[in-house]
Amino acid sequence: MHGEYYRRGEAGYESARNAAVWNERKPDRYPDVIVIAHDAADVVAAVRTAGEQGRPIGIRSGGHSWVGNGVRDGGLLLDLSRLDEITVDPATRTAVVGPSAKGPAINEALAPHGLFFPTGHAPTVGIGGFILGGGYGWNSRFWGPACLSIRAIDVVLADGRLVHADDESHPDLMWAARGSGPGFFGVVTAFHLEVRPAPVKILRTTHSYPMELARDLLAWSYDHLGTLSPAVEISAKVGYTPGSGERMVSLTATAFCTEATGDDLLAPLEAIPFRERAVRSTVNRETNITELYALADRLNPPGLRWALDGIWADGDVGTILDAAAPMLAEIPDGIAFVLWMLWGGFPEQANACWSAQAKVYLSPNAGWRDPADDLAHEQWVHGTLAGIQHLSRGLQFSDNNLADRPDNGLSPANAERLERIRKDYDPDGRFHTYMEAEQSTTAYGRAV
Ligand SMILES: Cc1cc2nc3c(=O)[nH]c(=O)nc-3n(C[C@H](O)[C@H](O)[C@H](O)COP(=O)(O)OP(=O)(O)OC[C@H]3O[C@@H](n4cnc5c(N)ncnc54)[C@H](O)[C@@H]3O)c2cc1C
Repeated sequence: MHGEYYRRGEAGYESARNAAVWNERKPDRYPDVIVIAHDAADVVAAVRTAGEQGRPIGIRSGGHSWVGNGVRDGGLLLDLSRLDEITVDPATRTAVVGPSAKGPAINEALAPHGLFFPTGHAPTVGIGGFILGGGYGWNSRFWGPACLSIRAIDVVLADGRLVHADDESHPDLMWAARGSGPGFFGVVTAFHLEVRPAPVKILRTTHSYPMELARDLLAWSYDHLGTLSPAVEISAKVGYTPGSGERMVSLTATAFCTEATGDDLLAPLEAIPFRERAVRSTVNRETNITELYALADRLNPPGLRWALDGIWADGDVGTILDAAAPMLAEIPDGIAFVLWMLWGGFPEQANACWSAQAKVYLSPNAGWRDPADDLAHEQWVHGTLAGIQHLSRGLQFSDNNLADRPDNGLSPANAERLERIRKDYDPDGRFHTYMEAEQSTTAYGRAV
């Protein structure tokens, strides 16, 4: 092996374990060994050795799982943070991307060719966990969740074979890779992605209103989603507002313009009936992907203890907002907010297990510093969602905390098929799958 490895108790182990999780709230889970792979051959060696020694495997690419999903008790933690190579083939509009590559590097490599990929909003998110779990990134309302752009994968299977899989050679495996998230049963060492034409212009409108207009603004955005082009990504945020000492409710729309769309895609936002009550506005301002990554980074800054969760919901907006009223009323002080993301619903595909979605994604986010505040924040995030579980049309694997709040990340039929395919590819359970309640190490998990 070219890579390093650390056994529990050895020098370097604890810093490698902590570095595997971006969140400052590190899990109290301890793998026996952490392997930092340098290339696909290291991954093969590690998976084979784990098989010989009977160790289960957890995986880390970009390390952005909010709950540190790859870090489990016992077994082996396979750290892929060095596998971040990016190669672009403009002729076939494809890119081969290592699992820990980040959005800015991917789009910087694509930009000279007039190409683009809907990476995660924050600049530090790894493509691995993001894309396997669905992947709602910049312009995903138009292009669909990122997993639908996977054309092939290079993957190390439970028996230690490195295979190049595509829809012809391994249709079941590809179906599973497109949406199974932390339940995928293999180690992807490279994603072969279909990349997209770059937008000709990116425009952005944000209106911030006083908190008392939160309900009206969320309802308006939900009911008027159909008036906005799919090239417009739109979300509201209630609570913490970066760059302002005050809490506000903000509606932000980002238009990814093409020659065909023109550049008046954001005009409907000026027709909000209470538009004149906005306390801060940016209207149809030209921006770029670098600025968008920076904005996202300000919303979920590093260095904090983060708890996140979310549900998909649809139906009557008044019913959703009535149910969400306690969550909106009890947003903790400091860096805490509710995201209301209007993805609208993208057609499901027969070649993807990705299947949990609805019109709106409702997600409480809380970031804090003092471990003594864990329970209060986690209670707000997971407890208020558990209280409206009846509304849930499923969760996003990206923000999952299945150990603290079980929910469906796939439709029941797809979840059943996934488990059948898992038996073929990973009959001995070499790879850890979805977390369960006993694996929670949060204050909330211990309390409930
Ligand atoms: C600040 C921040 C912003 C975010 N913004 C977005 C966003 O805009 N849109 C969105 O959809 N999500 C977003 N997320 C969620 C993010 O997509 C998920 O947490 C995702 O899991 C991160 O991928 P990762 O590779 O960095 O995570 P990791 O923690 O490295 O991986 C998480 C899990 O994914 C699986 N996995 C990862 N890589 C592989 C691989 N190569 N082979 C097999 N399995 C693998 C493993 O089960 C692993 O434990 C954000 C998260 C953070 C912290």
